[in-house]
Amino acid sequence: MSAMFQIKLPDGSVREMPEGSTPADVAATIGPGLAKAALAARIDGEVRDLHRPFEGDAELTLITSRDEKDALELVRHDFAHLLAEAVQNLYPGTQITFGPPTDDGFYYDFAPAPGRGPFTDEDLPAIEQEMRRVIAADKPLVREVWDRERVRQFFLNHGETFKAEWVMELPADEPITMYKTGHGEADWIDLCRGPHLASTGKLDPQAFKLTRVSGAYWRGDPKNPMLSRIYGTAWLSKKQLDAYLVRLEEAAKRDHRKIGQEMDLFHLQAEAHGSVFWHPNGYIIWRELEAYMRRRLDAAGYLEVKTPQLMDARQWERSGHWGKYRENMFVVPDEIPHASDDEGEDDRPILSGEADLMALKPMNCPAHVLIFNQGIKSYRDLPLRLAEFGCCHRNEPHGALHGILRVRQFTQDDAHIFCREDQLVEEVVAFCDLLDSVYRELGFDSYAIKLALRPDKRFGSDAMWDWSEQSLRDAVAAAGRNTEEFGWEELPGEGAFYAPKLEFHLSDAIGRTWQVGTIQTDTVLPERLDASYIGEDGAKHRPVMLHRAIIGTFERFIGILIEHHAGKFPLWLAPVQAVVATIVSDADDYANRVLEKLRAAGIRAEADLRNEKINYKVREHSLAKVPLLLVVGKREAEEGTVALRRLGSDEHQKMMGLDEAVAMISEETVPPDLR
Ligand SMILES: [Zn+2]
Ligand SMILES: [Zn+2]
Repeated sequence: MSAMFQIKLPDGSVREMPEGSTPADVAATIGPGLAKAALAARIDGEVRDLHRPFEGDAELTLITSRDEKDALELVRHDFAHLLAEAVQNLYPGTQITFGPPTDDGFYYDFAPAPGRGPFTDEDLPAIEQEMRRVIAADKPLVREVWDRERVRQFFLNHGETFKAEWVMELPADEPITMYKTGHGEADWIDLCRGPHLASTGKLDPQAFKLTRVSGAYWRGDPKNPMLSRIYGTAWLSKKQLDAYLVRLEEAAKRDHRKIGQEMDLFHLQAEAHGSVFWHPNGYIIWRELEAYMRRRLDAAGYLEVKTPQLMDARQWERSGHWGKYRENMFVVPDEIPHASDDEGEDDRPILSGEADLMALKPMNCPAHVLIFNQGIKSYRDLPLRLAEFGCCHRNEPHGALHGILRVRQFTQDDAHIFCREDQLVEEVVAFCDLLDSVYRELGFDSYAIKLALRPDKRFGSDAMWDWSEQSLRDAVAAAGRNTEEFGWEELPGEGAFYAPKLEFHLSDAIGRTWQVGTIQTDTVLPERLDASYIGEDGAKHRPVMLHRAIIGTFERFIGILIEHHAGKFPLWLAPVQAVVATIVSDADDYANRVLEKLRAAGIRAEADLRNEKINYKVREHSLAKVPLLLVVGKREAEEGTVALRRLGSDEHQKMMGLDEAVAMISEETVPPDLR
């Protein structure tokens, strides 16, 4: 008699199933609807194939398309296999390598058949068609366990040298799984850990699209052969795919690099990889944002400081950065250049190579502790909030850089709060309130708060972590933001190695999220750099250090602002706030008077006196995203009026007296915190 297994379902009920039965059998006992909808199974927490037999008693949850995250990952993995099968059907001799799911789809890396050359975008429609044919054939995907030598022989026999190489790196004593597609005899087979859906027919043939082809080195190493990587996006339904494609299109229109060029805000060039050249228009946005943040921080009791760009390597050793962070730091020799009194000796090397080392700061934290450590601090001096618009450098791989969103030189809205343990919760609450009001004033109505908890590798005792995590939890609760509205969530294992942190994720106008704000509790750095204060008891104590930022970095945040507003900045941030445009040259003198009045009122204005049709001027300035256009002709000059048009407004232009218009505009350009 075969054994019976106890299978526990999410509602707590238990089914007895004979050995050899599968999650699909359980689904069938519950009902035909579920049997059809089930995509895979979660067994004791692990996602598995629907037709893989139970190995003992188990807790079972059936996964359907309603479990979107799991379902998407399964479907994307299936599509990757489908892509590989389709490519090998169409192009015999192509070798397969790896093909994982991604955040929005999947890719697969291929070694094209000798002499064929790399795949191109032109190949994609035929491959898509072949993928749809395999879906329509509704072929089962079957899991088999092989030993390693059999797998290697199989791939060698089929000319798959990449796979044969890879399999030898898997542990020799562990069973290896292969997935076959096909009825009876396998049509196609790949080395894979799974899990997969039960058959290709479970995929929606209209819910995917192959998007592009790029080169990728075998195993990411430039010394290895170049492969062709084919990317696709895949979803659970055509509706989801269409919505995604619309989002992509919308994101492309808002791309900060494109708008940055159209509005002449900044540029990047290879001579300064990852550092931004801010043009006058872009730097106006920066200055307005910085002035705004400075006013908010001043009002919130922060003290602004400025600390050195370069510090001795020994200082970075003491703070622990040299050990943990060295590869991301720019290091500079500290040597006094020789002073030559003889003009002819300039070919002598300036540096002997025996210099001490200094490093450009990758973060401001240690310097702020050094300021704290000047003079004796008492418990009455705390909390001490030191703020710095600190310019930092981090050496990131060139491939990781992206416009002004990911750069190597950046300026943070950084601050460190030194406080007593009993002040921690109220400081975090005050920070949450400040951040909330800043985001709203900057035009973001929605953001999520997440608590990143202790990682496996960490400094400090469990008691310290218990206390830090609970303090952050308590603070968010006290601020009334541990709710669904604020997307409150705890993320196990995602904290920094020295501290748990709160993360603040902004949602932009097209529903993308950006992590910008953060606050972290740190007891490690004060310890390493020996920061202390004299307590009420007359003894020395360590302060807690809070690292915090609201907008993160100016570069990235301005990039986000550009994409969020699609370049149509609120009036106070707009580089050019108003343009005075003439209809006829007779109005030139009057236009100049209007311009003077606007500028005298502190409004960033320009005049367009060109001999062009007014419609042409209107179109050009609206493309440049100028918020206000003041149109003046002969009549306006005689009457002392202007015709005001607003960017993106369907209303017709509004006739106003000049003084009235200037007063109105100057009121509208006031930054939100000064209204
Ligand atoms: Zn796979
Ligand atoms: Zn810090």
